Amino acid sequence: MTLLVQKYGGTSVASIERIKAVAEKVAASSKVGNQLVVVLSAMSGVTNKLLGWAHQVQAEPSAREMDVLLSTGEQTTIALLAMALEELGCPARSYTGGQVKVLTDGAHTKARIIDIEQKNIRKDLDNGKVVIVAGFQGVNEAGEITTLGRGGSDTTAVALAAVLNADECQIFTDVDGVYTTDPRVVENAKRLDNVTFEEMLEMSSLGAKVLQIRSVEFANKYNVPLRVLSSFEEGPGTFIGSEDASMMEMPLISGIAFTSDEAKLSILGVPDIPGMAYQVFGPISAAGIEVDVIVQNVGNDQTNDITFTVQRKDTAKASKILQAIAKEIKAEEVQVDDKVAKLSLVGVGMRSHAGIASRMFETLANESINIQLITTSEIKISIVIEEKYLELAVRALHDAFELGDTETNSKA
Ligand code: ADP
Ligand code: ASP
Ligand code: MG
Repeated sequence: MTLLVQKYGGTSVASIERIKAVAEKVAASSKVGNQLVVVLSAMSGVTNKLLGWAHQVQAEPSAREMDVLLSTGEQTTIALLAMALEELGCPARSYTGGQVKVLTDGAHTKARIIDIEQKNIRKDLDNGKVVIVAGFQGVNEAGEITTLGRGGSDTTAVALAAVLNADECQIFTDVDGVYTTDPRVVENAKRLDNVTFEEMLEMSSLGAKVLQIRSVEFANKYNVPLRVLSSFEEGPGTFIGSEDASMMEMPLISGIAFTSDEAKLSILGVPDIPGMAYQVFGPISAAGIEVDVIVQNVGNDQTNDITFTVQRKDTAKASKILQAIAKEIKAEEVQVDDKVAKLSLVGVGMRSHAGIASRMFETLANESINIQLITTSEIKISIVIEEKYLELAVRALHDAFELGDTETNSKA
């Protein structure tokens, strides 16, 4: 018997009609003999609405209360799907994270899954029931409700698939697979048949929100076969798995990921003596700010310039800390620019090919786009540019590396 974990995202359960459509799909799959565990998100827009309400009531609500509030979105959809399935004559039972017991650490609003109890799920599956689990939520040791961070339902699904040793984890969403780049930005973006875990990790961490990064980390760690599919139309989707011989012929570049959720900070004229990088980044890290790209230029006047990027929401906090550090270490100046974006080319094929970077830079030069920062790893090249050029750069590079669908613009 095939055991599938299926996750339906916000747009897939956005209305009563959509929930009924998901129920039809699930019931049909159950009828042909599959065992099904279904993970749901909140209706599209609901999590944002709840966040908005919270901030209307209190400037800085506690993370604990935030989790009590945010977890309600998923609790609504699971119960409605269970009812829709029962209505179709398909036995089903819904569970909140706490009822399953999806055990997490105590980091409210960004908790990590530690373990998932299988007992209830197995019993229901053995009794021919579809099991429906609320995504994005769990409980800590003390029984407090926790949530897993935005997009966290993907991670609930993959973690369940890992624990239950499912045959496949299927992520149903509003696009029919993983594309060479966001199909909402580049019209002729092409669906990929296969993507390696490694590439998907880079793409997710670099801004492709189609899968939450943690879900890909989990899938990679426990070797969970993962597929992204459309909940609106039939199709093979995109398979994400380990790199194997069949993937040797993978294209040089698999995709372009990007995010405009970035800000760039520089501290100029830092004395060129040991310990300075620590003096700068120690307090930034202690404030819980994640630093991304870091570049240091050694000047010829015994000073350095250090530039780095942070998430845009952290700009003000990081800037304040950096100003204080500058004073302390007698640096010359702090500069802040929150109108930047990051764009990355990703592909395992890059390992064995030279010349990708120069082609990338040539393409951007032809468009007169200035590159502010560059960083590379074995399978990616990332650049930071002015935000207003982001879409132009994505399209130009998508063309230059011939990533588009040449046959038709099959994807609207
Ligand atoms: P869900 O609500 O189902 O979790 P998300 O909105 O989180 O869906 O993720 C799906 C969206 O991810 C798509 O609508 C698409 O705009 C975006 N996306 C960004 N990059 C890519 C990519 N490379 N391939 C496919 N989708 C992408
Ligand atoms: N509802 C949550 C969010 O909007 C979790 C998810 O959809 O995966 O982020
Ligand atoms: Mg999502």
